[in-house]
This record gives sequence, C-alpha cells and structure tokens, in this order.
Amino acid sequence: MLIISPIPAFNDNYIWMFHAPDSQDVFVVDPGDARPVEEVLSRHGFNLAGILITHHHFDHTGGISELTRNRNIPVYGPDNRNINGITHTLRDNDTVKLSNCQFEIMATPGHTLDHIAYFTDSGDDENPALFCGDTLFVGGCGRLFEGTAEQMYSSLSRLASLPDNTRIYCAHEYTQANLKFARAVEPNNQKLQEQAMQVAELCSENRPTVPSTLRTELDTNPFLRSDQPEVIQAASDRDPSSGANPVDVLRVIRAWKDNF
Ligand SMILES: [Zn+2]
Repeated sequence: MLIISPIPAFNDNYIWMFHAPDSQDVFVVDPGDARPVEEVLSRHGFNLAGILITHHHFDHTGGISELTRNRNIPVYGPDNRNINGITHTLRDNDTVKLSNCQFEIMATPGHTLDHIAYFTDSGDDENPALFCGDTLFVGGCGRLFEGTAEQMYSSLSRLASLPDNTRIYCAHEYTQANLKFARAVEPNNQKLQEQAMQVAELCSENRPTVPSTLRTELDTNPFLRSDQPEVIQAASDRDPSSGANPVDVLRVIRAWKDNF
C-alpha cells in the first residue's frame, strides 16, 4: 500500500509524492521545482529516498539538480541523455521496486518520444496506481510535441488496458478545460455531464481533480474513445476527410483541441 499526495508546483503542475504508511522515506515524481518539495519534506520530517521522471520537459525535471545536491539518492527516468541527473535508466517493461511496491515501466511515446509511465498494482485491496506524466490527463491527453498520432494512440491503448480501478495520477490540473472540450466532442455523453459537475464542485473548493480512475476516463475522455460512434462523428464533422479509423479520429480531435 502507498500513501500518495500531490505537491502543487508552478501554475498547474502536480509533483506526486508517495511512501509506505509506516515509512518517512518518500519518492517524488517529476519534481519540476525543488522548493515546494523541500517545504513538504521539512514540514513533515520526510526523507527524500528517490526521484522518478516521466519525460524531459523542464517543468518535470527542473528540480533534480537541487534535490540531489546534498543527497545520494537514485533518480529513475527514461533513456534520454538530455536529462541531467538520471542515475537509473528505465525502458519499456522494466520493473523497479520502490517503497515495497513493484512498478512496471511502460513506454508511452506521443507527447515526447522519451515518455514513460510508472504502474503499480500494490497487490493488496488498494487500487493500482499509474503515474502517467503528460501522456494521459483527466479528460484529455498530452499535446503531440514530438510523437505522432499513431504513437499516442498506441500509448493510450496500452494504458486503457490496465485494470479499470487504476488511479490516474497525471502531472497537470487541466481537467476543467479538458472537460469543456470533451463536452464539445460528445455533448450527449451523460457520464461526462456528471463528471463535469463533480469537477466544477472540486475546483470551486480549490481541491485537486486528480486522481481520476481509468473507468471514468474510459467513459468520458474523448482521447480514449476514438472508436466510439459519437467521437468518430464529431471528428468527421470537424474534418470531412477523417474516416472511422481511431488513429485518424485521434489525430483530428487532438488538432481540434490544440485550437479550442
Ligand atoms: Zn510535457
């Protein structure tokens, strides 16, 4: 079992922190900024035991050098020499044991080419957890900065095959804008309307909308629903050359979202 909590950073980033219930040794995922992490560590008397990185963008890696300056700790991350400070390179299907939990590494190219996600099924009655960086968001997916729609489709399809009760720990609070777009794509999706109301309530109380569950995402996230008739129709209304192929549908709705 893991206790997982967000450390807000910058405007809308979440640096996820996790630890075993009986331990003060914590890991952080994608520390773009060292300062809020140091504050949480000292406030709770936690000891930073390691860092996990999903991809090379600076808002996910900018805190590595400061956090490791006076600590001899492992920094796990993708096989990308442009990220300074990685001590343990991880590749697709690798496993790594942290806080007594086994994590599986999934390569998820699309947003960037080096992107990886960390999945753990802690093996007890807790829900599994996925740290997916900027690949899958609540209600959306990452922009295609480096990869293709084919790559993003295949990455999202792999994540979609995880257990339904997997908690989705993405790296940004983009949910409200994402759901506004999702409702433009699927105005008749009842579950999406319900989720939008719950999210509006959380946001009005300044509470995180993350994590979501994979079940919710499968029901509401248009980027996981590019094989659904209403999403296919919305894509072809947007771009008449788009067919029913889910990769084409994903490409069209991703480009639509970029300008939404
Ligand atoms: Zn990014």
